[in-house]
Amino acid sequence: MNTVSFADLKLAPQILKALDEAGYSTPTPIQAQAIPVVLSGEDLMAGAQTGTGKTAAFSLPLLQQLLPHASASTSPAKHPVRALILVPTRELAVQVEESVKMYAKYTNLRSLVVYGGVDIKTQTPHLKNGVEILVATPGRLLDHIEQKTVLLNQVQMLVLDEADRMLDMGFMPALKRILALLPRRRQSLMFSATFSNEIKKLSEDFLIYPSLIEVARSNATSDNIKQKVYLVASEDKHALLAKLLKGDDAKQVIVFTKTKLTASRLTRQLQREGIAADAIHGDRSQLERQQTLEAFKQGSVSVLIATDVAARGLDIDHLPMVINYEIPHAAEDYVHRIGRTGRAGAKGTALSLVSPEEERYLVEIEKLIKTTIEKEQASVQHAPRGEQRAPRESREQRQPYHKPSPSKPAHDPWFDQPYVPKVTEPVPSTSKPDINSVKPKAQIPALFRRPG
Ligand code: AMP
Repeated sequence: MNTVSFADLKLAPQILKALDEAGYSTPTPIQAQAIPVVLSGEDLMAGAQTGTGKTAAFSLPLLQQLLPHASASTSPAKHPVRALILVPTRELAVQVEESVKMYAKYTNLRSLVVYGGVDIKTQTPHLKNGVEILVATPGRLLDHIEQKTVLLNQVQMLVLDEADRMLDMGFMPALKRILALLPRRRQSLMFSATFSNEIKKLSEDFLIYPSLIEVARSNATSDNIKQKVYLVASEDKHALLAKLLKGDDAKQVIVFTKTKLTASRLTRQLQREGIAADAIHGDRSQLERQQTLEAFKQGSVSVLIATDVAARGLDIDHLPMVINYEIPHAAEDYVHRIGRTGRAGAKGTALSLVSPEEERYLVEIEKLIKTTIEKEQASVQHAPRGEQRAPRESREQRQPYHKPSPSKPAHDPWFDQPYVPKVTEPVPSTSKPDINSVKPKAQIPALFRRPG
């Protein structure tokens, strides 16, 4: 049982005031463990998933370390970049910076977020005004470095957030280029949901005698989240999903698919059945993604269909349910997906629809999370022909149907386009489409413990 308070962690009054306003009363386990380490100036390697409070675990002590440099001056020279927070996705970047801003509310420290997919020129003037804390995706940061719109020679703190994701997304070369530009004398913190050999290697390269912390994996996979598997034939998944979504506890649900194509098809099928569903994809335009996300947060969209890339880092308050329409082939993705629910102590439900072909991936997942998930053989009642089952694609294109979001065309041609990454923005992992191209068996992470 964790009984320390934020004040016990010796955080400054300005920071405590902001936490109080945010309604945080007690530090989460990762916060209780990480904050003293970061305040001591040591490097840190922390194993924690989204939903454990890891953002505050690094942001709060980071702000405290920078407080002596806080300045009310308007001169950009007084506000060099002193802390760099690198994250894998735009959504996570936005969320992390929102949190930093909130915690820094009563300090004179400035923060800014830069990410790809939006006009770089809109970010430059803000950078030029000077910011102490810069949250960035690696690709866009490199663009700024090349355009000489950012200087990193005063960075004294570096955070690599969701480091395992960054590696999965192919950001290693970008990270190496960025890290080579930072002063050698700095404090570095690395957060990762999993500890693969690659992550250990990365930590050896970039951290100096780090303290190791891991918060219990059960945080995300057992205590707060009720997990259940429905064994169901592929062709019956849609009917089962529609039934589950009509249940009382399915008021706000993220449904995960493996591919963009399934996401877009499923969204159309559900919309046709009167369910307020919309899709969010890794490479829909930034504006579309934000609008869909906002509609979901506000409740006008109740079912968000997402691929792994799009969902990374999403932080929806009190999300009660996650459904895996297709289970991921990389077991770690399961942990990331279900970590969207049951956050910060709230209860959540994670349901997975598993067809016979997918059962071998379920075995890997259960091995990784060290839990046998409850299973039920689903019995699906089929509606009379033509009533509920989805019509084939060709019919669907001929027949108009009611959709909750009238602004969208019936068939978004975007979904048929291949994702074309920028040179500096690597291809997200879900664009590796199927089982034949799946990376080798997921590593079962070695659990690190902080000594003593
Ligand atoms: P994170 O793991 O950083 O994505 O945080 C997950 C959620 O928990 C966010 O919505 C945070 O605002 C919230 N949170 C973080 N720390 C605390 C805390 N100590 N008390 C209450 N909520 C928190």
